[in-house]
Amino acid sequence: MAKIHPLTPQNPRMFRAQVVRTARVSPSMHRLTATGPELAEFPWLGYDHWFRLFLQLPHQSSLRLPEFSGTRWWQPYLAIPDEERPHCANYTVADFRPEASEMDIDFVVHRGPTGEVEGRAAVWACNARPGDSLAVLDQGVLYDCPEDASEILVVADETGLPATAGIVRSMPRETTGRVIQEVPTAADIRDLDAPQGLDVTWVVREDSGEVPGTAALAELLRHTEADPRGYAFVAGESTLATEGRRHLHAAGLPKSRITFSGFWKHGPAQPAA
Ligand SMILES: Cc1cc2nc3c(=O)[nH]c(=O)nc-3n(C[C@H](O)[C@H](O)[C@H](O)COP(=O)(O)OP(=O)(O)OC[C@H]3O[C@@H](n4cnc5c(N)ncnc54)[C@H](O)[C@@H]3O)c2cc1C
Repeated sequence: MAKIHPLTPQNPRMFRAQVVRTARVSPSMHRLTATGPELAEFPWLGYDHWFRLFLQLPHQSSLRLPEFSGTRWWQPYLAIPDEERPHCANYTVADFRPEASEMDIDFVVHRGPTGEVEGRAAVWACNARPGDSLAVLDQGVLYDCPEDASEILVVADETGLPATAGIVRSMPRETTGRVIQEVPTAADIRDLDAPQGLDVTWVVREDSGEVPGTAALAELLRHTEADPRGYAFVAGESTLATEGRRHLHAAGLPKSRITFSGFWKHGPAQPAA
C-alpha cells in the first residue's frame, strides 16, 4: 500500500482564483499573484506546499474545470474532450498572504533554441493579465523530515527554488545543514530566509546550453559522506532527483531519509495532459 504522506490532503480541494498582477522578479523567474474569495480558505502549510495548476487553453474564453471529488479528479479530467481540457501543471506556493487571500507562484522562464519562452504554463504566466482565471488543486507538502534528523540537505535546480525558499523559511531556526541551489544566472540569486546554521551554496550555470540540474548534481557529488541520521530533499530535473538520491544513499543516507522528486524531464514537450 502506498505510504500516505502526513501532509498530503486526503480530500484535496480545488480553489478558483484570478490574476492580480505579475512581475519579473529575476531574469529567469516570473511571479504571478492570484487572489479570490476561495483562496481565503487555502490551507497553506509552508514548506514546499504544491498544487496542480489548471489553465484555460489559448483558444478558450473561460476556464473549464473538471467535476471531481477527493482524490478522484484525474478520470473526470481525462473525460473532458482533448480540445476543451484545461492545461494542468505542477507548481509550488511561493508565498501566501492569508490576510489578502493572495498566493504568489514563481514560474521559471525557460527558452527554446531560438530564444522564445517555452512551456505552456510559463508562456501563459508571461502573458497573463489581471482578471485572468486559474484554479489550483491542493496537493500538500512533499518535505518529510524526521523529527530526529541531525542535519538537512536541500538540493534543487531553478524549478525547485520556490520549494527551497519555502522549506528554509519554514524550518525550525536551530536547523543545521546545507542547501545546494542551482540557478541559470547570477542575477537569479536571491535572499533566502534560512536558519543561520544552514550553509547555502548557489551554483550558477556557466553554460546556457547545459541541462538544468547538472551543475547542482556535480556539486552534490562532491559531498562524499552523509550522516545516516540526516535528511535530504532533492528536487528538479529528473536526473538530478534520481542520481542525487542514488549518490546520497551510497554516501550513507537511508532511502527513507531522502525525499526526491523529478519536477520535470529534459526532452521534447509531452502531449497536453
Ligand atoms: C511538486 C512540483 C512542484 C513544482 N514547482 C514549480 C515551481 O514552483 N515553479 C516552476 O517553474 N516549476 C515548478 N515545477 C516544474 C513544472 O511543473 C515543470 O517545469 C512543468 O514542465 C511546467 O509545465 P509546462 O506546462 O509549462 O511544461 P510543458 O509545456 O509540458 O513543457 C515544455 C517543455 O519545456 C521543458 N521544460 C519544462 N520545465 C523546464 C525548465 N524549468 N527548464 C527547461 N526546460 C523545461 C520540458 O522538458 C518540455 O520539453 C514543479 C514540479 C513539481 C512536480
